[in-house]
Amino acid sequence: MDLSTPIEKISGIGLAYKKKLKRLKIKTVRDLLFHFPVRYDDFSNISPIVKAKPGETICIKGKILKIKGSRTWKKRMSITKAVVEDKTGGIKIVWFNQPYLIDHLKDKDEVCLAGRVVLGADSSMYLTNPTYEKISKNKGLTHTGRLVPVYPETEGLSSRWLRYILKPLLLKLKDYPDFLSEDIRENLMPFGKALWQIHFPDSANLAKKAKQRFSFEEIFLIELVVLRERLKINRQKAVSIKMDINLIKKFVDSLSFKLTDAQRKCSWQILKDLEKSKPMNRLLEGDVGSGKTVVAAIAALNTAKAKHQVALMAPTEILSKQHFKELSKILADFKLNIGLLTGKTDKFTSKKLKYQEIEISRKKLTEKVLSGDIDILIGTHALIQDKMRFNDLALVILDEQHRFGVEQRAKLIKKENNQYIPHLLSMTATPIPRTLALTLYGDLDLSLLDEMPKGRKKVITKVISPASRKKTYNFIRKEVKEGKQVFVICPRIEGQSEEIKERIANSNLTKKKRALLSWAEVKAVKEEYEKLSKEIFPDLKVKMLHGKLASKEKERIMQDFKRKKIDILVSTSVVEVGVDIPSATVMMIEGAERFGLAQLHQFRGRVGRSNHQSFCFLFTDSGSKKTHKRLKALTEVNDGFKLSEKDLEIRGPGNITGTRQWGIPDLAMSALKDVSLIEKTREKAKTLLESDPNLKKYPLLKKRLSSFQKRIHLE
Ligand code: ADP
Ligand code: MG
Repeated sequence: MDLSTPIEKISGIGLAYKKKLKRLKIKTVRDLLFHFPVRYDDFSNISPIVKAKPGETICIKGKILKIKGSRTWKKRMSITKAVVEDKTGGIKIVWFNQPYLIDHLKDKDEVCLAGRVVLGADSSMYLTNPTYEKISKNKGLTHTGRLVPVYPETEGLSSRWLRYILKPLLLKLKDYPDFLSEDIRENLMPFGKALWQIHFPDSANLAKKAKQRFSFEEIFLIELVVLRERLKINRQKAVSIKMDINLIKKFVDSLSFKLTDAQRKCSWQILKDLEKSKPMNRLLEGDVGSGKTVVAAIAALNTAKAKHQVALMAPTEILSKQHFKELSKILADFKLNIGLLTGKTDKFTSKKLKYQEIEISRKKLTEKVLSGDIDILIGTHALIQDKMRFNDLALVILDEQHRFGVEQRAKLIKKENNQYIPHLLSMTATPIPRTLALTLYGDLDLSLLDEMPKGRKKVITKVISPASRKKTYNFIRKEVKEGKQVFVICPRIEGQSEEIKERIANSNLTKKKRALLSWAEVKAVKEEYEKLSKEIFPDLKVKMLHGKLASKEKERIMQDFKRKKIDILVSTSVVEVGVDIPSATVMMIEGAERFGLAQLHQFRGRVGRSNHQSFCFLFTDSGSKKTHKRLKALTEVNDGFKLSEKDLEIRGPGNITGTRQWGIPDLAMSALKDVSLIEKTREKAKTLLESDPNLKKYPLLKKRLSSFQKRIHLE
């Protein structure tokens, strides 16, 4: 037997249990062994019966004096009663609805029992429904008299059963070879021992040590995957693109504003990367409104003017169009041809056209891309899905992707039968906590736009409970009357998790599922729209925007909003990250408790882009103190990074954008909070790969790594 053995090969596991185990995602011996306890019941102290006190949970050892089963006719309940005695005294035991006990436990049996002491109606003490276990000389205790593991359970599959199956299995695997050799492991527990101690610990401390070993193991494997990916990329070639200082100067001077220092610094880092003949792999991280687009424009301009092509990919059509318009505008002096490829209508603009956009057929556009006539191609993921071929693609820019592009680039590269692979710049407003960034994007270089353009006022943020709704609505009305505009975000009615929302945003979901999910989204928006337009603000111009609208319609609405023909725009959370409407100054979020802090912060970033004072109202009907405390953090903290750290602390890494999809094991997930563990592990992984990049001296580790890599999908 090894760890990949299917569980049905284990004695005691038949078809019925196989099915139940599958519900817990347990299919192999490994899965079963790694089904770790969520906690331990501490029954390690055996107390003398005489010391039993009502209300306490105790564990006792003694001999059964008499045991007897009966049935109450009124309630049709089975009752099993016994008296158990040790040297110090005796106590009554009662079990409800476990009639089989009478066949299992007999008079004179030595037993260990753990349960709660209560005072019966006859004012004598009982131990009710205790966990029981017969004591036999050569078998240690499993369910009582020790730290007893409690597992995640499913119907018909109890912790007791899991203990019963696991214990003999663990004994068999006691000396299972450890894929972490001693030089890597140092003073961490070896595999077999750690498995034993995590399931049946001899002490809380040993349980902790066992857990440490597995945390290390998982993080270590992740680090190896990431670092090896990095080495692979470093071995590949990209075209080196010279930095054209005069060009960049001319561009920067042409802007209507001064670049922030952060924008300068990041542009410099990117341009320096482009000069190298190994592919850039850089993540540009900056809060909403920090001005990532200009930085991208600088990289694109430098590349296009060096006669190479650039692809810029955005998550939605609206954003693609916004980029198309913006780049056409700010690059107008530079004689570039820019194409826009979206789901339905493609567009093109050039110097010849005086940067007026025209519609163009997909065929024409494709030809222009292939011939190299298009310098910058902007689009949604149609850009990689369709049969686009470039003449000489040298830079790929991904905007606001929740994933950071390794996969997308891979797709783009596959099409180019080229010895060079394009440089990659990912941009995101999702602040990623340091530990996560270190681990999961260890193969990306990081540029931070940690400074906002000057003159921006801090957005005033308030948590609005039901009592102050009316007051806030009045305030919003007053703002609108003064010419301001309002965004309203509402969550899906069913309160779907962010995971699902996100999956939709960049999904490979089946059409049917996608339709179902966006239906829920539309419904939520419609209801909020009805409420606001009919009941609350019948005097104002309210419109809604959701994924189900035709893209022409969406664009029209956005245009109307930009042109101030709409006062209040109700939309979902998935559509339109990063849309730039400077005249909008109020962000109102319904059901704010359903969103993560970092995400709320991103919504907030859509206002506050002008010199007017902006507001963010977090509506919540939740009465929970915890929720209010969490939301309150937003009123105090204005830094996306700090908020994401807080999210990590409060909600755990699983809820940080994207992480669920990676298939990272739970233990590693929680270990991601531990900065020092991560740093230590990373060092280890680095040193190892430097001395033995192909893990020749570590065959077991190599094997484990390849199966691990199949399981997780880092991107
Ligand atoms: P994001 O980082 O969210 O993508 P954008 O690139 O959309 O931000 O920029 C937001 C707004 O700020 C745009 O209107 C842009 O023109 C403006 N902007 C960018 N950089 C500066 C700057 N240095 N000074 C003033 N305004 C700026
Ligand atoms: Mg942006």
